[in-house]
Amino acid sequence: MATAKFETPALKPYPVIPLVAAGAMANTKPFVASAAIQANLGFPGELSEGWEARAIDKMGDLLGKYRSLRVYMDACVHCGACSDKCHYFLGTGDPKNMPVARQDLMRAVYRRHFTFAGKHFPWLVGAVDLDKSVLDDWYSYYHQCSECRRCSVFCPYGIDTAEITMAAREIMDSVGVGQKYANEIIGKVHKIGNNLGLPGPALRDTLEGLEEDVKAETAADVLYPLDVQGAEVLLITPSADFFAEPHVESLIGYGKVFHAAGISWTLSSKASEAGNFGMFIGNYEQLRKIAMRIREAALDLGVKRIVVGECGHAWRVAYSFWNTLVGIGAGGKDPFAIELQQQLDPRYKQPMHICELTHDLIGRGALRFDKEKNDHRIITFHDSCNVARGSRMGDLPGGQFTIPRDIIKAVANRFHDMAPDGTHEATFCCGGGGGLLTDDLMELRVKGALPRMEALKQVADQHGVNFMATICAICKAQFSKVLPYYGFEMGLVGGVHQLVSTAIRLGEHH
Ligand code: SF4
Ligand code: SF4
Repeated sequence: MATAKFETPALKPYPVIPLVAAGAMANTKPFVASAAIQANLGFPGELSEGWEARAIDKMGDLLGKYRSLRVYMDACVHCGACSDKCHYFLGTGDPKNMPVARQDLMRAVYRRHFTFAGKHFPWLVGAVDLDKSVLDDWYSYYHQCSECRRCSVFCPYGIDTAEITMAAREIMDSVGVGQKYANEIIGKVHKIGNNLGLPGPALRDTLEGLEEDVKAETAADVLYPLDVQGAEVLLITPSADFFAEPHVESLIGYGKVFHAAGISWTLSSKASEAGNFGMFIGNYEQLRKIAMRIREAALDLGVKRIVVGECGHAWRVAYSFWNTLVGIGAGGKDPFAIELQQQLDPRYKQPMHICELTHDLIGRGALRFDKEKNDHRIITFHDSCNVARGSRMGDLPGGQFTIPRDIIKAVANRFHDMAPDGTHEATFCCGGGGGLLTDDLMELRVKGALPRMEALKQVADQHGVNFMATICAICKAQFSKVLPYYGFEMGLVGGVHQLVSTAIRLGEHH
């Protein structure tokens, strides 16, 4: 049983809006990045004289660049529709974790510096100067938002708190106050190629070990290839897939799908990471620099297709940004983007999600399954925020919801969805997204998982659910850690391709 210095919230049979607990999470904040970590990303190492003016300049810069941010600052009518929609408010009761209050932390400064009323009558419109105590509040509460966008679904104006959080983090980085966890990881990607700092030779050893394990289990020669020139598919997957449980079970599943379908594929030691924490810190330059590795790897290896593994925010970045960021898909116009567009096979989506690939193969009868091999599992599906609300799949609206569920139903007999107020577009965050998957935020992560844990308990009690499938590396890691706090087994979470892996028949090409 997990131990903690805080109290794990009790699971209730149905969702209850908590009593307000002012300041309950005021002292919760992640470790601040050191000067060295900041320097790796080109950010100042600490606050220095005049930071207030530089922060306001940066805010002005972002307001000019992103019209949405200005609209979000101006449009809120404080109707309160979003106030009980954030899992961090539901789990902690801290009123500053209501999305509208989180936005207001920036809105008060915006009004002071960018509106007529705030400049001349600040006391009338709740406008405040940006000083150290306001900055401390920003650091705390903009690191208690997982950028999940659930609140925006319920806002009549579509105000997206996630974008405000990203802007706040970017402003803080620009004056020397960065988050250790996210910025350290971005530094590792630049230096070594993945979030875990796993070097190429260690990756090769790991993949060879996987081939031996799968051979021992199935007698099939399933390959987990690295840096294979001329392979058809380049698979970009979260580095957790290479060794963490349960993630690696999905990687095994991807390999079996490629093997069974007779598709040549490869991983890349240069781009051995699908994750892109540049999005979490709201920094376009970092976002682009991280994504650029993938384009370089695709050009180097001469692949025809780029497929993305089970990772929520990586799929959002791939689906929504890769085209204009680096030219994977239509959009990029520089010579390398054009070269890549000519190289990639136009008959396929570029990029494609591994679930789209598997779903398509199932639809064409190219894969066969023994569904009963999953009969020991009673399965539910957790929609991951960035897939549900930040991207799509397939050709039909809502494909990001139907495609993973279709795959599960094709490979397993026993499936039950959780209650509709916490699935599909209204899904609850796992509690660890948006750069918050760090042990220094354990209390927040456990409490933020409450709404999902309550929905899971319902289907566990009603249907005996014992497996929660998901297609996000962060969700898998977060749930593995927090499930025991709520009395569940940590092994209750796993990937969709873990289920595929269990049921797929090998040795038959169709
Ligand atoms: S984006 Fe998600 S975490 Fe952030 S305030 Fe909205 S609901 Fe909460
Ligand atoms: S739902 Fe939208 S308009 Fe209403 S308080 Fe929340 S952010 Fe403001």
